[in-house]
Amino acid sequence: MADYQLIIIGGGLSGLAAGIRAARFGQRTLLLEQHSLPGGLNSYYFRHGHLLETGLHAMTNFARPTDKRAPLNRLFRQLKLSRKRFVTREQFGSQIIFPGNRLAFSNDLSLLASEVAREFPGCSSSFSGLIKKIEDFDPFAPAPHCSARAFLHEQLNNPLLENMLLLPLMVYGNAEEHDMDLAQFAIMFRALFLEGFFRPEYTIREFLALLVDQYKKFGGELRLKTPVAEIIRRGELVTGVRLGDGKEISTKAVLSTVGLPGTARLSGWKLDAEKHTGKMSFMETISLLPAKKCRELSRGKTIIFYSHSEDWSYRRPDVLIDPSWGVVCFPDNFQGIEAKETMQLRVTHAADYHRWRQLDPADYGAAKERCSQESRQMVGKIVGNYGQDIVYQDSFTPLTIERFTGKNQGAVYGSPMKIKDGCTPLPNLFIAGTDQGFLGIVGSMLSGVTIVNQHLLQ
Ligand SMILES: Cc1cc2nc3c(=O)[nH]c(=O)nc-3n(C[C@H](O)[C@H](O)[C@H](O)COP(=O)(O)OP(=O)(O)OC[C@H]3O[C@@H](n4cnc5c(N)ncnc54)[C@H](O)[C@@H]3O)c2cc1C
Repeated sequence: MADYQLIIIGGGLSGLAAGIRAARFGQRTLLLEQHSLPGGLNSYYFRHGHLLETGLHAMTNFARPTDKRAPLNRLFRQLKLSRKRFVTREQFGSQIIFPGNRLAFSNDLSLLASEVAREFPGCSSSFSGLIKKIEDFDPFAPAPHCSARAFLHEQLNNPLLENMLLLPLMVYGNAEEHDMDLAQFAIMFRALFLEGFFRPEYTIREFLALLVDQYKKFGGELRLKTPVAEIIRRGELVTGVRLGDGKEISTKAVLSTVGLPGTARLSGWKLDAEKHTGKMSFMETISLLPAKKCRELSRGKTIIFYSHSEDWSYRRPDVLIDPSWGVVCFPDNFQGIEAKETMQLRVTHAADYHRWRQLDPADYGAAKERCSQESRQMVGKIVGNYGQDIVYQDSFTPLTIERFTGKNQGAVYGSPMKIKDGCTPLPNLFIAGTDQGFLGIVGSMLSGVTIVNQHLLQ
């Protein structure tokens, strides 16, 4: 008999959600995570006496507990977690800023609709038509890749408005440069504009603890600091995994959440890794500022998406970072979050993995500092200057993302080609998470649950 019925590789959000679902249905499940903490891209660390979250700007797909059909509430039901006891804090409101135009949005779609009517009066009715089309669209029906840009242009015929709407959707969940698959666009449009942003009342640490407790309560086993070095096969069948220390564990099935190139490397599955490695990666800088200053900069906004140019383009830059556009997030600025003495300002810019990789390691720290300064200058034009008020600052680059999550080239959103059914050429090896196609915290958790439901509960 195999040691386990299911081994899950990766203790990020998709792996944890998959683990809870499988353990809940009595599967002997082992979750293996290479790091000392779970969470993957969305974990936490301590600096300067503060808990810093690695990824959390906001969770998407906000829904009130009474909305039974909403993805967030379906997810909680599938994990047998109480949605009522999970306290959510909604955003105050966010903004998209381009040179001559601004669009505010919140968790109430009517604000965005009225902003579009004010800034782009000729597009008001076509925007309503777009909403209707997205509400009726089934993004989960099997379909070939379809250009979201072409679809948007057909609906709105206004390149500036199209770019303004695309910026948040792409930067929060698009692995592809320049364009986006229509299904992915519809998922992200719903997640951000129709449902909206929130965060848990506390930090990601408490949220991860809730998931780990639930997993263990159902009998699931978690081993941290346990990297998988190989997925063992007999012919086409997976029979177990070999750990970093050489130990072997047998299993009836493996669910990998480490992305397509990583899964292929571990299992010997022949896959063109370069083709399946996304080009989009990011540098993120977290600045701790006195709360008063942070409030002044945010002007009541939770997240600001900006571009200094109208013909903004979503692509890997040909410099270390491209601060001409980005995301400015105030993760403490959600309704009902307790006031603190210092608050965070997080800034995200597209970054080029290869240029970071080519740096002499001795220049890495100085390059981070130089990029942070460039970033402050560009962001200062949007929110005001804050360099002189920084209490503490920390940055991470595509190299950090690669080192801590194993994501090839720090590609946060994984491969531009997704495997929506989670199947690989090996009949008992499945993938979930980023490369299955659901992105973000709620999306990756839904991915874990969906793949377990579809393939692993027999
Ligand atoms: C800077 C940043 C900001 C973000 N902000 C948000 C946000 O505000 N809201 C939002 O919804 N989403 C956000 N995201 C995206 C979100 O974090 C991800 O979509 C989601 O967490 C992906 O989860 P996952 O489980 O698919 O992958 P991962 O989190 O990458 O998990 C994979 C896990 O596998 C482990 N692993 C890899 N190789 C091995 C191995 N060989 N053996 C054992 N373990 C292994 C890794 O250590 C990792 O823990 C952000 C991401 C980043 C990087």
